[in-house]
Amino acid sequence: MTSHKLVIIGTGFGGLGLAARLRETGIDDFIILEKSDGVGGTWRHNTYPGAECDIASSLYSYSFAPNPAWDFKWAKQPQILDYLEGFTKDRDLYRHIRFGATVTGAVYDKGRWTVTTAGGKTYDCQFFVSAVGQLHHPSIPNIKGKETFKGPNFHSAQWDHSVDLTDKNVGVIGVGASAAQLIPEVAKIAKHLTVYQRTPNWMINKHDRPYSKFEKWLAGKLPFMAKLYRGGLWCQGEFFIWPVIKGAKIRGALVRKLNALEIKKHVKDPEKRSKLTPDYAVGAKRILLSDKYYPAIGRDNVTLETQSISEIKAGGIETADDKFHAHDVIVYATGFFSNPFLKNIDVRGEAGRALREHWKDGAYAYLGVTTAGFPNMFILYGPNTNTGHTSIVYKLEAQFEHILKLMDKTGDGTVEVNDPAETAFNEEAQEKLSKLAWAKIDASWYKDRERVTNNWHGGSTEFKRRLENPIFDHFTFSHPISDKSTTA
Ligand code: NAP
Repeated sequence: MTSHKLVIIGTGFGGLGLAARLRETGIDDFIILEKSDGVGGTWRHNTYPGAECDIASSLYSYSFAPNPAWDFKWAKQPQILDYLEGFTKDRDLYRHIRFGATVTGAVYDKGRWTVTTAGGKTYDCQFFVSAVGQLHHPSIPNIKGKETFKGPNFHSAQWDHSVDLTDKNVGVIGVGASAAQLIPEVAKIAKHLTVYQRTPNWMINKHDRPYSKFEKWLAGKLPFMAKLYRGGLWCQGEFFIWPVIKGAKIRGALVRKLNALEIKKHVKDPEKRSKLTPDYAVGAKRILLSDKYYPAIGRDNVTLETQSISEIKAGGIETADDKFHAHDVIVYATGFFSNPFLKNIDVRGEAGRALREHWKDGAYAYLGVTTAGFPNMFILYGPNTNTGHTSIVYKLEAQFEHILKLMDKTGDGTVEVNDPAETAFNEEAQEKLSKLAWAKIDASWYKDRERVTNNWHGGSTEFKRRLENPIFDHFTFSHPISDKSTTA
């Protein structure tokens, strides 16, 4: 067993960014446990055709590591992975990372955490940080007969690149953000593509384009211009999409109008058009951005199937109207288990309390980062920190500063959020969330049963302000030498 100041799980944007900030503040005694064989997290695993970001890359990147070389406004997955690999190298983080280390448990006792991996290794640390993200475990629905299908079948996040889809009959189940990116690519080469849609999405154009050489030169030579541009992208999310989620009537109507125009422009078949139009509040599910989805659905070799799937058979899919669709390949673009958080990791806090028991009615945490009964544990991209309108990386940076400030105040001791402060925060968050579009739909990956467990209740300015200015009175700091506690 080795001992460290911190053990972090995960090398996505969260784990790597915190690691870089730790080093900048002079903390070098940490390791990052990563189950994969390389860095990048979701940007390593999601290699499906067409994978790219749906937040513009100048904003979906660290403010302290700008990249003037983005080829497209919305970078493609390989370039985002390159960026993270380059960042890891530049910041000399590789020496902190232990690859192939799947964390299975973390136990707190008397001011220290013991973190265990599947390989049986244990690590002792003062601070335990989860940076495993919210969309990590692919979800394949338990459809009757799915194991009987004879052809290749895989999840969008586990793309099998050995399978050539050219001239094949392909079925794609799901029409979320991943599906919206991969469907246009599959439609181009498949003989026939059947898209199984349960709920349509509100979608608007991305207006993607490559950056010119001049723009890249400008971003590299005049960082001030790049910052200004980043600020402009932030404003679009904050002042156009966020109000829609809050229920702004005119902006909501504009999204509906833009959506209807795009469908009309690209899809000639009236039946397909009506199937594509959502009937729920704009913003209740993630508003998707794509220039390619509706043109793909409008193609003659694409069927949009809205009958529910009754059974998967050896040669294809049967729908509720008893129709059989023959397929050579089935792709599950069916999303992720966003709940429970920290799935498959047995976390035990004070007195052996299990985190999964603590969160049995749905995950919550004070400002999304700390939870009572689990001292010296920090969660990056934890409960109620997600967003439907801006960059997660922007929000992660506020979480890094929150953690660094708490660590600084804690010194060699322990820090734990006070239960009343956490309860008050959760009540405030749930009360505000109940008025937003996300609450106006029965199910989405943002929710665990009735509660919106994944998303933040306000704008990102408020998030940044509250996270970067921790109210120390909301925490109990204990000091090991005097063993005296300070509380509010
Ligand atoms: P998702 O948005 O949860 O979509 C899953 C899809 O599968 C939905 O259409 C869902 O239908 C459908 N589905 C699930 N079970 C089904 C079943 N039994 N039968 C039929 N359909 C079923 O998942 P995702 O597309 O992977 O995206 C998840 C999140 O990842 C996104 O919201 C986004 O935040 C992130 N993401 C980001 C990017 C990016 O560009 N940065 C790209 C991809 C994903 P229902 O809607 O009816 O449940």
